[in-house]
Amino acid sequence: MAHIIIRDIVKTFDSVRVIDNINIEIERGELFFLLGPSGCGKTTLLRTIAGFYRPDQGQIRINEKDVTDVPPHKRNTGMVFQSYALWPHLTVRENLAFGLELHKIPAAERRRRVDDVLEMIQLSKLADRSPNQLSGGQQQRVALGRALVLEPEVVLLDEPLSNLDAKLRLEMREQIKALHDRLGLTMIYVTHDQSEALSMADRIAIMQNGRIQQSGTPRDIYNFPANPFIAEFIGETNLIPGSVKRIAAEISVSTEIGELQSSLPYDGIKPADPVFCSIRPERLTVIGKNESYVNRIEGQVTRIIYLGSHEQYFLTLADKSQLKVIEYSLQSAKTESGKKAQIGCHAQDVVLLRREAP
Ligand code: ATP
Repeated sequence: MAHIIIRDIVKTFDSVRVIDNINIEIERGELFFLLGPSGCGKTTLLRTIAGFYRPDQGQIRINEKDVTDVPPHKRNTGMVFQSYALWPHLTVRENLAFGLELHKIPAAERRRRVDDVLEMIQLSKLADRSPNQLSGGQQQRVALGRALVLEPEVVLLDEPLSNLDAKLRLEMREQIKALHDRLGLTMIYVTHDQSEALSMADRIAIMQNGRIQQSGTPRDIYNFPANPFIAEFIGETNLIPGSVKRIAAEISVSTEIGELQSSLPYDGIKPADPVFCSIRPERLTVIGKNESYVNRIEGQVTRIIYLGSHEQYFLTLADKSQLKVIEYSLQSAKTESGKKAQIGCHAQDVVLLRREAP
């Protein structure tokens, strides 16, 4: 298990700062995610941690030791590549043993470790097959096994599930998480798939343009996104622009569709500040008779999509903007397309996010 400190890391390609001053501390045994859109620098950061790239500035420490100038094979990290990178002419067993031979591990020890890992990844019975005789999920497990067999202090995974179909991806999520929990490994996992990160991570760092925008537990980031980019990137949200009107026990915001109240605590917010009211679709509800909500929004229902477990309502509001509402477990639809409807939410469901003044 390893404690990792990434301090002031900068990496430039062709004079572009692909990694722009990143600081992260990863605890021993954490399953830590780097999440962000394509091109934000996740893979570059992971490769820098692995030692494939030398940063232009900054320092990487693994277990208090500065490894910034240590080559990859001496860092005690194991990497799982998106492409698996298995040797096609070697069997599963030989693929697993390959790295151990390079590290000059004696034959008896090699056999023991390979057998242990085969069991861990549940491929003992297929040990003598070659990779092209395996399914995508099985190949993925070999790629993971090949990293684990080196008994690394840190396992680095680069989009490890992106070549698998949707069902297998879900299964492999469970398996990787179970292995992580059982072995107590420190893992850094790169993905652009927010549901993968939300469902597996101890903590997530959200990256954009080479910077960390926010890091925290999945629940914290979903409930308290730090800015509009994160609110839209993690889950879905309605962003309603407005400006702060009054600050009392609750904060009132003037918007084109009326006043909205937020009861969440904010530092340094002042009257007249431009903000977005970010409201998750599942926190909104179509108001029935005799129901009262502090926040009420009127709109015209344009579309209803029934999805069994839940139902989506799309509305056009007075300022022509769109609102999305999700209702769960409804026996029957709450309203009809073409009708006017009142939508409500509580003050604690309105998250205020700073907005650049227009
Ligand atoms: P994806 O999810 O698409 O893999 P990413 O977030 O992992 O994206 P990176 O692969 O780290 O992003 O790339 C970040 C930026 O750096 C991109 O603009 C990419 O074109 C550029 N880049 C990456 N590697 C190199 C390289 N070896 N030489 C020059 N530019 C590079």
